[in-house]
Amino acid sequence: MTSVPDDLIQPFMIETSGLRGRLIRMGPVIDDVVGRHDLPPAAQALMAEFIVLAATLSAALKFDGIFTLQAKGNGPIRLMAADVTSDGGVRAYASVGEDVPSEDDIDGAPIPRLFGAGYLAFTVDQGDHTELYQGIVELQGPTLIDCVHHYFRQSDQFSAAITLAAERDASGAWRAGALMLQRLPEDELSFRKEEMEEAWRRATILMGSCRKEELTAEAISPHQLLFRLFHEDGVRVFDTHPLNFSCRCSRERAEGVLRMLSDDELDDYKIEGRISITCEFCNTVEWFDEAQIRYARTV
Ligand SMILES: [Zn+2]
Repeated sequence: MTSVPDDLIQPFMIETSGLRGRLIRMGPVIDDVVGRHDLPPAAQALMAEFIVLAATLSAALKFDGIFTLQAKGNGPIRLMAADVTSDGGVRAYASVGEDVPSEDDIDGAPIPRLFGAGYLAFTVDQGDHTELYQGIVELQGPTLIDCVHHYFRQSDQFSAAITLAAERDASGAWRAGALMLQRLPEDELSFRKEEMEEAWRRATILMGSCRKEELTAEAISPHQLLFRLFHEDGVRVFDTHPLNFSCRCSRERAEGVLRMLSDDELDDYKIEGRISITCEFCNTVEWFDEAQIRYARTV
């Protein structure tokens, strides 16, 4: 049995118009990233969408570093973040209160029910000496996709359309998929503007016809799905980029946290003489005993 390619970014081009796009498919990786957090079901579902959206937006940008998507609000989920490195490493984090509504109470409006009022932001961090690329928009609309399209309408960094889905498969594991189409800059248009508008309209309608289960289903390969949607206009696929789980935490970073604490704070956090530092992204725990704490604070 040959396995269907999964956990990847598949760039493509529609041949008649030259429009570019990306298909994102996530299976075991998104289940791993979400599963590292002890979240209520409604928050898990939003985190899965958040992760696949972060992967999708990151795929539209040329960068060498870390892309971070973040939402802050005054609702039950105070903060959610997902980041994607330029080599495809994905991780996520959420700060969640007690009062998360059940999935039934979300009623098609996860953003107001879970985040309340707030904003959606992304940054691209390319290291110390390069510019921080940034975008921010008020959370507006019932779903994450609505918020992103609200951002696209205001942005000159992205001219794109996205559809996405995240759901559990029959075994209960999270899967997600997304499609993004990007408009071409005017100087790259190979034909007249009106024709391009028509091609864009047609491509976004075809994209919109893609059902959630087609976006996420492992059984439909990325090539099959793209062919199914765009075959009349011809679709060319390029090399895929893999996505994987990766976290940048380390014992050295945990030691850095210990150095920032006061003696009083250290005493507060000690349990039977030891301190544990848990990475909020991957839930890895680093333990330090008295001697190790002293060492960490001297290096
Ligand atoms: Zn970590």
